[in-house]
Formats: sequence, C-alpha cells, structure tokens
Amino acid sequence: TTQPTESNVDVLIIGAGPAGLMAAAWMAHCGVRARIVDKRNTKIFCGQADGLQCRSLEIFDSLGFADRAWKEANHMIEICMWNPGSDGVIRRSDRIPDTIVGLSRFQQIVLNQGRIERFFLDNIKKHSGDSIHVERGVLPESLEIDASKADDDAAYPVTVRLRTLTEEESAPPQQQQLAAGSKGKSGSVADGMFRSNLVHEDDEDELIRKSKTRDPGASEIVHAKYVIGCDGARSWTRRALGFELQGEATDFIWGVMDVIPITDFPDIRMRCAIHSAENGSLMVIPRENKLVRLYIQLKEVTPDASGRADRSKITPDLIFSAAQKILSPYKIDYEYCDWWTAYQIGQRVGTSFDAHSRVFLAGDAVHTHSPKAGQGMNVSMQDCFNLGWKVALVAQGICKRSILSTYQSERRRVAQDLIDFDHKFAKLFSGRPAKDVMDAEGVSMEEFKDAFLKGNLFASGLSVNYGPSNLVVKAGDAVAQGDGSIKHVNSAKLEREVSAEVFAKKQALATGLPVGMRFNSFKVLNQACARPWHFQERLKADGRFRVVLFAGNILNPDQKERVNRFCEQLDNQGSFLKRATPPGKEVDSVIEVLTIHSAKRTETELLRDFPATLHPYNEHTGWDYNKVFVDDVSYHEGFGDAYTNYGVDKERGCVVAVRPDQYVGWVGDLEDFEDLQGYFEGCMVFRSATANGVNGANGVKGLP
Ligand code: FAD
Repeated sequence: TTQPTESNVDVLIIGAGPAGLMAAAWMAHCGVRARIVDKRNTKIFCGQADGLQCRSLEIFDSLGFADRAWKEANHMIEICMWNPGSDGVIRRSDRIPDTIVGLSRFQQIVLNQGRIERFFLDNIKKHSGDSIHVERGVLPESLEIDASKADDDAAYPVTVRLRTLTEEESAPPQQQQLAAGSKGKSGSVADGMFRSNLVHEDDEDELIRKSKTRDPGASEIVHAKYVIGCDGARSWTRRALGFELQGEATDFIWGVMDVIPITDFPDIRMRCAIHSAENGSLMVIPRENKLVRLYIQLKEVTPDASGRADRSKITPDLIFSAAQKILSPYKIDYEYCDWWTAYQIGQRVGTSFDAHSRVFLAGDAVHTHSPKAGQGMNVSMQDCFNLGWKVALVAQGICKRSILSTYQSERRRVAQDLIDFDHKFAKLFSGRPAKDVMDAEGVSMEEFKDAFLKGNLFASGLSVNYGPSNLVVKAGDAVAQGDGSIKHVNSAKLEREVSAEVFAKKQALATGLPVGMRFNSFKVLNQACARPWHFQERLKADGRFRVVLFAGNILNPDQKERVNRFCEQLDNQGSFLKRATPPGKEVDSVIEVLTIHSAKRTETELLRDFPATLHPYNEHTGWDYNKVFVDDVSYHEGFGDAYTNYGVDKERGCVVAVRPDQYVGWVGDLEDFEDLQGYFEGCMVFRSATANGVNGANGVKGLP
C-alpha cells in the first residue's frame, strides 16, 4: 500500500455547517492557514434552520454580507398568538412585535440555511484569496493530541488522519431523492429525516470501513496546531475526545414542513404560535418565495419504551393532517412541499468544550435543543464567532494562549442558558392550553405570552453578557460565601481581580456599554466627510482589537489637554499600541484607535483639533480620514445621539476597549492608561519596547 501524505496546517476545521463556516470565515479574514473538511459532497440546499436573529445579522455585517441576507430573506415583523376561546375554537388573542423595538439596527429575518452557507462560502473565498475552500467527501478517521506539546506555541500537537470518500459514499440520501423527481405532493420531496435526531445510527464507521476495503491507502495525515470540531449533533470529534452531551429527550415529537400553503387562515404570512384545545400546537413561520414553514406537534406519535419514536410511521401526510386538525375550522392544503422532517425534543449540553485548548467543539456538537425558537444555527455560528478570532490570533502569535480558556467559560454558559430557555419554552409550547385558572395540567396562555416576550430578548442573541476573564475586565457575578469570602461564578481564571466598587465607578462612565456585552450601535458622522455611519459598521471582523476614545468636548481647552495626554501615552514606545504590533506592521494593524467626539462638527477640524495619533499618517496614502467621528446631526439621517445612548458624559468622555468580536472588554477614564495597558498585557503578546519599528504612528516613520 502507498504511504499516506503528511502535512502541517495551523487550523483544521471538521464540518462545514454554519458553525464550521463561521470558523473558516475568521481564518480567512485574519489570514490564517486553515483547512475545512466535510464528509458530505454538497452543502445544504433546502430545509433545516432558517431564522436569523439580530446578533447574527450584526455579525454578518461585520463580515460583509448582511446585505445579501437582508435582501433575500422574509422579514418577520409581527407575532400573532392564537388560542381556543371558551367555545374551544381557535382565535387570535394577541399581537406583539417579532423583534423588541429599538434592540438592534436589524430585525429577525428568515432565509434557508442553504443560502446562508452560500454567503459564507463566497465570503471565505473572497477573503482567503481562494486558499480556504471546503474539501468535500473528506472525514477524519483518527485524532490524537500530544498533551506534552500542548503549551508549545510552535508545535503542531494534534494529529488527524483524514480519509477521502468517493462521490457515492459522500452523497446524502436526500440528494438521491431530489434526483428522483418533482417536489409536488405526489412526487419526491426533500426529506430531512436522514439528519434528524430520530435517526440515530452513526454512519462514519461504516463509511470509513467501506472506503478502507476499496482503497486502504486513501488517507492523509494532518498535523494541526488547532482543531475545531463543528460536525453537528452526532459529532465524531466529540466522540473521539470521549466527551458527552448531558441532558434528556422529552416525549414531545414535532414535524416540520416547508410548503406553499393554500389556505383561508388569515395570519399565514405572520409568525404565529397556535395552541389548539385538544389537537396540539403549531408554529407558522412565513418564508421567502411564498414558502411557509410549519412546526407541527405530533400527538399521535409517541416514543416507545426505549424512549425513541418509530420514524417509519412519520410521513408528510401524517404531519400535514395533524396541522389541518390544529388549524381547524380554517382549511389548509398544499401542492408544493420543499422539505420536511421530524424531531424529538431534547435538551443537551456538552460537558466540555475543549481538550487542552487545542481541540475545540462548537455548534450542535455541544448543544442540541428544539429548533422552534430558531436558535440552533444562530447560537452555533455565534460559538465560532467567539472562538474563531481567538484561535486565529493565538496561532499568529498576536494573543496569548491563555485567552483560549475563555471560549468554554463564555460559551458554555450561553449553551446552558439556551438549554434552560428551550426547556421552558418547549414545555409551554407543547402543553395543552389551560381551560381555566383551576386547570393545573394545562398551560396558562398568559404565562406563554410572558415567556414569549422574555424569550424574545434572549432569542435575539443580544442579552449575552460574558463573565470576567483576561478579555473582560469587570467584577464577577460575585457570590458571597458562608465564610465571608467571595466566589466568582462562571468566570475564567483571573489574573487581575476588580472589586465591585471600582468596577461600578468605571462602568458609570459608559452606562450604555456594559462590559461583557456587545458594543451597541448608534449613528455618528465621519468628521472628515460628514457621512453618517452606524458605529458598529466601523467594527469590522478583521481580527483587530479597538480602543474607542470618547474624546468629549474637544473644543474645551482642559478636555483637549486630557486627550493630548492620552495620545502622548499611546505614542510612547512602551505603550500597548506599539508593543502589541509586530515590527514593520502598520500601527493600526493589531489595535485600531477610533474616536467619537461631541463638539460641533462644523466648529472642529480634523487636522487642527485632533492629535495625529487619532488619524495616523502614512507616507504613501496620507492621513487616515476614517478614524474620527462626531456625535452630531446629519443632513439626511437624523441624529444618533450617541453620547446619550452610550451613557457617556459629553464633556469628559471615556475610553472603551473592544474585542475583535465587538464585545466590550474594558471601560475607563482618559487617565486610566495604565489600567488599559494592563488589559492588553493580559491578553496580547508584547514585543520588546526598544526593537519596534511600528509604522505610521506619531513621531515614527512617515510623519511630515
Ligand atoms: P451542522 O449544520 O449539523 O453541520 C455539521 C456539518 O458537519 C455537516 O455539514 C456534516 O456533513 C458535517 N459532518 C458531520 N460529521 C462529520 C464528520 N465525521 N466528518 C466531516 N464532516 C462531518 N434549526 C433551526 O433553527 N430551525 C429548524 O427548523 C431546524 N431544523 C433542523 C432540522 C434538521 C433535520 C437538523 C439536522 C437540524 C435542524 N436545525 C434547525 C438545527 C440547525 O440546522 C443546526 O442547529 C445548525 O445547522 C448547527 O450548525 P452546526 O454547524 O453546528 O452543525
């Protein structure tokens, strides 16, 4: 037999679903050598996840493709609740906005997962110069970590043996069906059951065995610095690490159908939560291209003694007739079905999200739950939006390896919250509505509405608040112990503790920018050209940290003096800005300083009033006009009132450090430079203060 080829790669990503593609996108945007493999020979074309939450859209915007999703998607504006009246007939009982008003510049939209994967693939191609592309029909057959080299920055301690499948071996069953005919009611319809949790056999071993009998030598050995396992709910990587998902399945079984409905139900183009008196519940999700997704509770299918439902009983006809009963007396039918599946509700979360900070698990591989709240794809992508830049910057020697532990401390808590939320929500959704207040077995519709409203904030992805770590400087969720000591829960190992008192003072400088939460967005104007920008648009996912200087009223001489002093410290050769930047690189290549001031735009001048540090000069391209912004009224787009909204004092301002994923890491005063220096020292690799030829800063190369 032939010897397998061997190679090194910085990051190997296993699985090219939404989570894996997000990880690959970070590698492309940060310029990291990475590979991504998937056992299937194609991406998804229809079905599966479809809801995109506000936070996911903000993330897409930072990557550069929110506009594509926004244009193609169906926009979800209102939710209608339908419950049985005293006569037992369903009627509309409430209307609420689908997205909490004012929460984000985006609102929830729906578009199928296949399109989202397409946007990612295009984006990764563009930003990696086509050097990162999904290698399809490739899956791992073994994975080993050399723990003795786990702390060696130069080492490639993870060895993965990859196997390449034939076209036939890697084709999902769905594809063969699609080839078989039309998608009409009688024709063949894309069936998502092969990926459903009701189908539980693991096919990897079988695929590898077959492939080995065909060609024993068809494998390749990859030595990786880091591996990210994004291989879905039945994750091979998770099993290879010996990690488990903890939690339970419930008895609730739901069907999902994407159809073009023919109906007299009045709210078919609204998102609806429908509880029938006796026939179960239904959720309506209006979609793009006249499609509507129906989530339908299947009361007639129940799990057997082993806890598993018999999937052979579940057909589109069975699912749809359940929907017809729930919607009665309204009529519903269809001629075209795009996709269907069924799943058993269960909530599980991974015990561990990483091994030796070398192999990480993300997405469905570490949390599974019911899909109705549209969380699966969103939380999975957000896992990798949290993880990707950390791995990228550590692999490039820009950040310290110790930041990698924050992935688990930050995301496991989100996964746990998600599971708790889903547990509550699924129970309220699958329960029969209470007949009256004495009906203890039934679900109170008031309680359901309440949970829906609260759930909406959680589901937007914007309530995430990361605990203290060397990336998030704040007081912990401190819990006083019996002995009087304080224990921080849900926090990574801390190098620098901050007392609650000190932290409260810092946070008071920017009450609208809670440390640990994502940097909210308001409109500001570019000082040089007066164009309005949502400030978040300036926080691109390019792997850079940012220091946002709220310069306050720059026309006040005392305040100007404070700003000058802050900039002098930045210019110092020993400053974090200089020491975190590798020699020869532009001064803003690792940490970018952005300014928002509050004086009148027309009374201020970029070159006269702002130190050069805030708009660095480059000998080839001149001044940087994209770094100084003003909180002022625009000609065409109103007034963002950013200082008020961020809760920052208009005279004195403050300073905020922002992570590459847009989370607020530190807040302080203009005089807290040393503390800010400490923040960056805690997470970044500093170069020696003398040997640093950083380009473009004040007093360094290029300034006239
Ligand atoms: P996945 O999207 O599962 O991606 C995993 C990838 O890894 C796949 O491309 C797979 O081919 C690949 N892979 C698996 N094993 C290996 C291996 N050994 N080697 C190499 N590659 C491998 N969410 C909703 O919000 N709404 C819904 O209605 C909804 N319906 C769903 C229906 C079904 C049938 C399924 C399976 C999921 C559904 N989801 C839904 C969930 C949503 O699709 C997931 O939460 C989301 O896709 C998770 O992304 P991921 O990248 O973590 O995993």
